[in-house]
Amino acid sequence: MKIAVLPGDGIGKEIVAQAMRVLQALGESFEYEWADVGGAAYESAGHPLPEATLKLAKEADAILFGAVGDWKYDTLERALRPEQAILGLRKNLGLFANFRPAICYEELVGASSLKPELIAGLDILIVRELTGDIYFGQPRGRRSSPDGAFAGAEEAFDTMRYSRPEIERIAHVAFQAARKRGNKVTSVDKANVLETFQFWKDVVTEVHAAHYADVTLEHMYVDNAAMQLVKAPKKFDVVVTGNMFGDILSDEASMLTGSIGMLPSASLNDRKQGLYEPSHGSAPDIAGKGVANPLATILSAAMMLRFSLDRAEQADRIEAAVKMVLASGLRTPDIWSEGTTKVGTEAMGDAVVAALA
Ligand code: NAD
Repeated sequence: MKIAVLPGDGIGKEIVAQAMRVLQALGESFEYEWADVGGAAYESAGHPLPEATLKLAKEADAILFGAVGDWKYDTLERALRPEQAILGLRKNLGLFANFRPAICYEELVGASSLKPELIAGLDILIVRELTGDIYFGQPRGRRSSPDGAFAGAEEAFDTMRYSRPEIERIAHVAFQAARKRGNKVTSVDKANVLETFQFWKDVVTEVHAAHYADVTLEHMYVDNAAMQLVKAPKKFDVVVTGNMFGDILSDEASMLTGSIGMLPSASLNDRKQGLYEPSHGSAPDIAGKGVANPLATILSAAMMLRFSLDRAEQADRIEAAVKMVLASGLRTPDIWSEGTTKVGTEAMGDAVVAALA
């Protein structure tokens, strides 16, 4: 089993280092190969996703990814910005299904900004379509407005689009995931306004009727879903939605768990090859300070063991170790609360490695 390790930028390097220590403590004989990606690759090779990095990612069974991006690259042309690396990996590897579990650990109930009774026992799974929608739709660009009240003025535009097969395959993923959990899917759309999402709703309804009548399906507009996620988050089981709505809702859901530093993710293609990364970005505001929470990355490594490497028992070990560490009261600053012990990134990694033993 070969794992491509792509730490990236900012806190990416710090958190991936801790996840690697945890993986290496498992005693498995995986082969690891490191490569630059994002801003780091732009510095070393002139491109955020160099050919060599893409080749390594394609050949690997799984990819452990940190995060990319830094404000200092904001003035680069779009194709050279660090964030293009993650979009390029998703597209090139066909990683269309993004799993973002939002689980509120008992020990972190107090770290969420929501009332404890709303989030205690929370366990929802956001299934986000990852290779379509407005993030990839063509055409896009800037031009002189061809019509309307501001004809002739400079304008920018993107294209929201979804094909039937793209919606069908993500719907199958969501319904199958629901069968292993609470047996309920909430499909989030904006069918009242957008043609693309009326089509989304129609196709999800068809897939449900043809194959998954045993699973409960509800449809919800994205604005309502954003509200319900903070009003009564435990009403959700599996949420399936498009790329852009999923991006926003999963960040919202992260705060239910206490911190975005707790939220892992897996992005899979139809060959079980996957890219595993924390749901957060490179956090330039805290990079280099040794305070980033490595748990989302460590939990992403656990998802990698379960989904791509057939090592479910090792994934269980890591998740149990994380729970033990939280129960012992150790907290990075983002999840710290009165009465717990504040530690940095490396000390949190030390504690998880020790708990594994
Ligand atoms: P961010 O997720 O990097 O940070 C948002 C806030 O959360 C910051 O205050 C940060 O300090 C905090 N935070 C994030 N991860 C944390 C952790 N592990 N521990 C403690 N606190 C944590 O989002 P942003 O600030 O909007 O973006 C920063 C850069 O990351 C941008 O360049 C953006 O494009 C990029 N980004 C990359 C990815 C990715 O690599 N997949 C995803 C999102 C954003």
